[in-house]
Amino acid sequence: MDRMRKDPAWERLDDIQKEADSYVRNANITTLPVDPGFWCRAEDDIYAKALDLKGECDGLLVFRDGTFHLFYQPDQYRGRFNFAHEVAHFLLDEHHQAIRDGRGEHKSQTGFITDIQMEREADCFASALLMPESVFWKLCPDPNFRDIGRTAAAFDVSLTSAAIRTVQYTPLRAALIVSTAGKVAWGRVSEGLARSGIYDVKKGKSLPPRSKSCDIWSKPSCIPSGIVEGAESCASEWFAVYSHPLRLWEEVFCIPRFGTVLTLLTAYDE
Ligand SMILES: [Zn+2]
Repeated sequence: MDRMRKDPAWERLDDIQKEADSYVRNANITTLPVDPGFWCRAEDDIYAKALDLKGECDGLLVFRDGTFHLFYQPDQYRGRFNFAHEVAHFLLDEHHQAIRDGRGEHKSQTGFITDIQMEREADCFASALLMPESVFWKLCPDPNFRDIGRTAAAFDVSLTSAAIRTVQYTPLRAALIVSTAGKVAWGRVSEGLARSGIYDVKKGKSLPPRSKSCDIWSKPSCIPSGIVEGAESCASEWFAVYSHPLRLWEEVFCIPRFGTVLTLLTAYDE
C-alpha cells in the first residue's frame, strides 16, 4: 500500500504557491531578492507604498474608483513579506474579486500567524513569490535553524517563511511545528517524512511533556530568544505514527515578539 499521503490543508496552498512560481517565471526574475513592487506598476491599476499602519494591521488593500491602493507596514524583518502578502491578494483572482466586489478593502495579518484561510493563502503565495521554486530548490538548506537563517538572509525573508519552504523542499525526513501557548498551532511535514507514514500535524495538540518545546512553554514569561537545542525523541510522541518507531532530533527557535515557538524535527538516517 502506498503510504504517501498529503495533508489536505496544504494541497490548495501548494497550488497557490505554484501560481506564484509561474508569476516569477513569467517575469523572468532570476536575481535576489525578489522585489514585490515588480507586480505593482501603475499601468496595472495598482499603487503601492509603505505606511505606518499603527499596529492596526500589517497591510491594507483598498479598491477605490477603479484602482487598487496597496499599503504595507515597513519592518526590518517582515516589511517585504507584508508587501508580498498584499501583492498576493491583488494577483490571486479569487482574492482580487472578493475585495473588488465586497467591502472594497482588506486588512491583513501576515506572517503565518492567523488561521484565516484567505490570509494563509496570501502568506503561502508571498512565500513562493519571495523564494521562487526555480531558485530555492538549488539553495534549499539542511533543516536546521542556523542554515535556514543564512538562506533567509539570502532571500531577505523571515526565518519562519524560510523554514516552511525548507521543509517543503528538503529531501530529508523533517517537520516544522509552530506552537503558541504550549499547543500546536500548525505544522508541515516533508515529503520524506510523509513516506514514513507521518503526513500531518494535529492542530491543538499539547507538545510532548519531555520535549524542549514543552519545557520552554512551561515558563511563558521568560521565553528565550533564538536557537535552543532539544533532544532526541520518538516520533510517536509528536505524531500518530503508523510505521516503525522513528527517532527525531528536536531543535527550537523562539520568537517571543510574536509569542511563537518554532520546532524543527529531523530524522537522520542511521
Ligand atoms: Zn491579507
